[in-house]
Amino acid sequence: MSTTKGNLSARDLGVIWHPYTQMQTAPAPIGIVRGEGACLYDEDNNEYIDATSSWWVNIHGHAHPHIAQQLAAQALQLQHCIFAGYTHPPAVNLAERLLPLLPGQQRRVFYSDNGSTAVEVAIKMALQYWHNKGQRRNKILAFKNAYHGDTFGAMSVSGRSVFTRVFDDFLFEVHFLDVPSKDNVADIIATIEATEQVAAFIFEPLLQGSGGMVMYDIPGFEQLLQYCRQQQILLIADEVMTGFGRTGKNFAMEYLQTAPDMVCLSKGLTGGSMALGITTCTSDIYDAFLSADKLKTLFHGHSFTANPLACTVALASLDLFEDPACALNRQRIHENHQRFLQELKQIGIIKNARLLGTILAFELVTDNADGYTNNLADYLHRFFRSKRIMLRPLGNTLYILPPYCITDEQLAAVYDSIRALVLSLQPA
Ligand SMILES: *Cc1c(COP(=O)(O)O)cnc(C)c1O
Repeated sequence: MSTTKGNLSARDLGVIWHPYTQMQTAPAPIGIVRGEGACLYDEDNNEYIDATSSWWVNIHGHAHPHIAQQLAAQALQLQHCIFAGYTHPPAVNLAERLLPLLPGQQRRVFYSDNGSTAVEVAIKMALQYWHNKGQRRNKILAFKNAYHGDTFGAMSVSGRSVFTRVFDDFLFEVHFLDVPSKDNVADIIATIEATEQVAAFIFEPLLQGSGGMVMYDIPGFEQLLQYCRQQQILLIADEVMTGFGRTGKNFAMEYLQTAPDMVCLSKGLTGGSMALGITTCTSDIYDAFLSADKLKTLFHGHSFTANPLACTVALASLDLFEDPACALNRQRIHENHQRFLQELKQIGIIKNARLLGTILAFELVTDNADGYTNNLADYLHRFFRSKRIMLRPLGNTLYILPPYCITDEQLAAVYDSIRALVLSLQPA
């Protein structure tokens, strides 16, 4: 382990508990002190290319001056304010600007803190919608292997896995569907037909992120959504990862004809600079909560609901997102990925290389008894760390999901690191 000037990683080991990390065996974390564009810098000023956008949140690059300036100005104006009974310009401005950009007829914004809470709010809205209407609909549909967050409701609608195992007894019942492929939609629909009282279907549109960048068959997915729409099953599009241009279009639901009733947003919402969650809904859903009866109120909120600083950086991120340069950058990344994809398809140990917008993914299949097989993810992690490329595999799935400002040269360096990895795994 390289020693660093401020010895941040050693101090960290004394006091910090990291997410998704077996602290006994994990290598000491690298101390990051600065970011710029697609890169992060450690205490010795070593540069790391952030090829997965710091857990898929960063879209315009690190420490972006426009975001920083807007944040500083807002911090001198109003930092926080209770959001029940009071409101403020950043919350209203953001809702007014965002709603028309979203898929379907989104008419209301409900603020929370992150992707998981955005999902919690959507689930509560869906269940209470039917309750308020006096209809007995309380079953939820989700995809097998889905990921919607780590709080209990979000975990319940996520696929059961080693991540949830300890808590499985405490999660509410969800009917899990296969992901649509070319020939299974009739079967999926049959399983929904056999399920009574379905309130809502929550899904990651077009691809599963944490599930391993699994991409759906779009016509099949459309057919499935249309069926649910006919059955008045509320459609909750969890665009926490896919929102704000990640899949090519502004929102993944734009690839489909069927519009969602609710949309969950976070991650890229603030350009990846601050925590903020949003759940939007149609006026039909909103109206079902309007009543003289207090029990029809949505009793949900968080201390930092609609935090003015977070709303301000989301507005600043929207400025950058709406600049034509942003779409051009996404297109440029896509074209670079497309060329590299052709190369990946020729490599024996790489399977199922695929591309959607700015996301390039593939599986590594190494069953030669190299000793890597059992611990491939650890090996990959260490390999890319040594190359100072931030890539974090999901099992044996490797993916690139960069900030849109990544340069062609930086992308080439990421591709080179993957070429070097392949060579290290299959010595000629
Ligand atoms: C990351 C993610 C979440 C959870 O968001 P957090 O902010 O990490 O709680 C929910 N849904 C999807 C699709 C995600 O990718």
